[in-house]
Amino acid sequence: MRIADRIKRLGTETAFVVSAEAAAFAVKGNKVYPFHLGDMNIITPGNIIEAATRAMKDGKTGYCPNAGIPGLRETLAADVSASHGVAYTMENIAIQPGGKPTIGKFFLALMNPGDEVLYPNPGYPIYESQIEFHGGTALPYGYNEGPENFLLDMEAIERQITPRTKLLVLNDLQNPTSAECTMAELERLAELVRDHDLYVLCDEAYFDIRYSGKSVSFASLPGMAERCVLLYTFSKKFAVTGWRLGAAIGPKEIIDVIAKLNVNDESCSNHFIQHALIEGLTGDQSEPRKILETLKKRRDTAVDILNSIEGVRSFRPEATFYLFPNVTGAMKNKGINDYDQFRRAILEKSGVSVCTRLHFGRALEGETNYYIRLAYSGIDTTEIEEGLHKLKVFLES
Ligand code: PLP
Repeated sequence: MRIADRIKRLGTETAFVVSAEAAAFAVKGNKVYPFHLGDMNIITPGNIIEAATRAMKDGKTGYCPNAGIPGLRETLAADVSASHGVAYTMENIAIQPGGKPTIGKFFLALMNPGDEVLYPNPGYPIYESQIEFHGGTALPYGYNEGPENFLLDMEAIERQITPRTKLLVLNDLQNPTSAECTMAELERLAELVRDHDLYVLCDEAYFDIRYSGKSVSFASLPGMAERCVLLYTFSKKFAVTGWRLGAAIGPKEIIDVIAKLNVNDESCSNHFIQHALIEGLTGDQSEPRKILETLKKRRDTAVDILNSIEGVRSFRPEATFYLFPNVTGAMKNKGINDYDQFRRAILEKSGVSVCTRLHFGRALEGETNYYIRLAYSGIDTTEIEEGLHKLKVFLES
């Protein structure tokens, strides 16, 4: 078989390997506490399910416009304009089958081979995969622990910018660290973007998953809307991860290119699901609010127990459904200095299944601390309590 050379440059999400290992461990009769995948064990709000059924019965089962149905594009433009303080119209929106497709399409639209792209590491692994797959040069930047949350390694961003640097990926409200940019960080980034003529992929997958305060979009800073493409997804807010619906939102010229890529890839996103998500955006919001209440309770339970474990230190982020505790002390206490050995030991001894820092990119030069990532979107509070108490017993034994 002669697989094309370019496939060697395509990465993957290694968290799925952790899933497979956890499943194999469970099949042997072991109890598993699934903290490894950012999927949700919460059922989609009833009004959205009903709207999808109604749309199917009404015959919304054929192809629809490549950029999405006008009703959804208009509704989403109004919703995002209000939450972002930026004036978007339907012309600024190309509906996608999920949030993820915006990543590859952004690079296809704006990156030439050899262009340099700054991207977060630890970060969502698809950025690096898509940059390298499409012939770009991926330049990682990291995060440092601040007093209340992780902070951008601004020095790494500034140091790496060259005349060949064309694009920046910013995942504010970040997976896996849950980092949220301060206003000072956003302003400094905006200066760099202006000075170096960069375009930005703003991955806002978790913009609406927050427990207090208000999310601020990088696109709302002066002059940034015309340089930013937002990755929007319905997945988390409405618990529709498997339904697959999202959008690319940005300047019309770029959105037109992305819509042309839609024609070449999937033709259109699922027709009746687009009708259902109009109901999601405009209908009763009590269930999405309940989803946030559920997630907040899970966060607090997990953070309290993690911080009671010797050698473990976790922030209490106000957004996303991830925790990225520092486990350097716990690993030292157990005499383990290998990430995968630590992860397997945790799974075998406590049933707690997690990802490590290495599932979000290669460790950067000079990294001395160790981190694991726990997603609490797919596990109930009682199981969080039970699992993390077992983890505590193991790590302190
Ligand atoms: N971006 C980030 C940072 C994510 O964590 C995810 C999903 O976990 C996505 C994008 C993709 O979202 P979707 O499932 O809607 O494709």
